[in-house]
Amino acid sequence: MTVRAVEKPAFEKPVPITEPTLPPIETLVRRYEEIVKSRMITNAGCVREFEAAVAAHLGVKHAIAVSSCTSGLMLILRAMELEPGEVILPSFTFHATAHAVVWHQHKPVFVDCDPETYTIDPAEVEKAVTSKTRAIIGVHVFGNPCDVEALERVARERKLRLLFDAAHGFGSSHQSRPIGGFGDAESFSLSPTKLVTCGEGGIVSTDDDLIAERVRVGRNYGDGGDYDPAFSGLNARMSEFNALMGIESLRLLDANVRRRNGAVELYKRRLSKLPGIGFQAVRSGNRSSYKDFSIFIDARRFGMSRDRLHEALMKENIVVKDYFCPPVHRQKAFARFGQSKKNLPHSDRLAQNSLSLPLFSHIEDAVIEKICAVIERLHGK
Ligand SMILES: *Cc1c(COP(=O)(O)O)cnc(C)c1O
Repeated sequence: MTVRAVEKPAFEKPVPITEPTLPPIETLVRRYEEIVKSRMITNAGCVREFEAAVAAHLGVKHAIAVSSCTSGLMLILRAMELEPGEVILPSFTFHATAHAVVWHQHKPVFVDCDPETYTIDPAEVEKAVTSKTRAIIGVHVFGNPCDVEALERVARERKLRLLFDAAHGFGSSHQSRPIGGFGDAESFSLSPTKLVTCGEGGIVSTDDDLIAERVRVGRNYGDGGDYDPAFSGLNARMSEFNALMGIESLRLLDANVRRRNGAVELYKRRLSKLPGIGFQAVRSGNRSSYKDFSIFIDARRFGMSRDRLHEALMKENIVVKDYFCPPVHRQKAFARFGQSKKNLPHSDRLAQNSLSLPLFSHIEDAVIEKICAVIERLHGK
């Protein structure tokens, strides 16, 4: 009698989809002690230093540390003092982009993305503008810069405000200019899946003095210091401990972006030999941070659907994610805006056929090679 061998997964321990590359602990402990001894544990010297370092890195006038990218988006929208109305945004994004709009009682108007770059399609934005439109939000999806010039042109011609969800934007650039200085303001995330991280946090970047001032006051309940707030803000301040980690994390950014671009090259070199696998296009003149590495599965040509590939890779202890599925316009939280049946063909196609593979700044080449070998084997089945 033969006993059928239990198939062993390709990896003994799960390879995570992502994990933070953190600064060495030695770089943190001394100053951590100083913070504790000073008893100034929030919104003090480290926050100022972090803001100055980020502003210099991004080449912007103002970088304002906040508690998250989401609160940053909320505060930018508040700072713009928009009349209630519509805000145009992509559906192929993380839902936080839309939450910020809804918290302000604006109506989110979801539009389709470019099928190659996955970023909001400026032509679709133009078609969606009505007399009620107040603002446009672009998202640098997976770190791939939006078509910033085209969006700036639409905003200028239609007299709309333009902001960017730059959650994935640390390490991304357009014509050698870092993401952060486009539109009226941008909001970055510092949560653990992003390239620069400090646990939880965000950065608002802008060259607009008025937006900067209002975001600064807004993150402190709208209270400018006289206990008589002029508008309703949030507590969206950053603690000193987070800022300290942010300072050290930012120092690792350039090396980490190079590493991720190299890792993606390695993935693509092998996976592009398989039929039915597509990649997000990064236009010339742009650099992506590769916050995520997403592949597009054409089920017919590849011989297996995204869902089946997802399942098969998980069985091999390769953790993958269906970013972003369902697309935001079909999510329950936004059903009341009546767009869940809206035809956004590219967003739907991407949501149904994209798969994000493991990528983090310290991933080893050998791990990538092995993941590629598993995908090659699954294709051959
Ligand atoms: C992570 C993320 C956010 C939210 O960032 P927080 O800092 O957690 O608020 C917003 N938008 C996108 C596209 C994201 O990936």
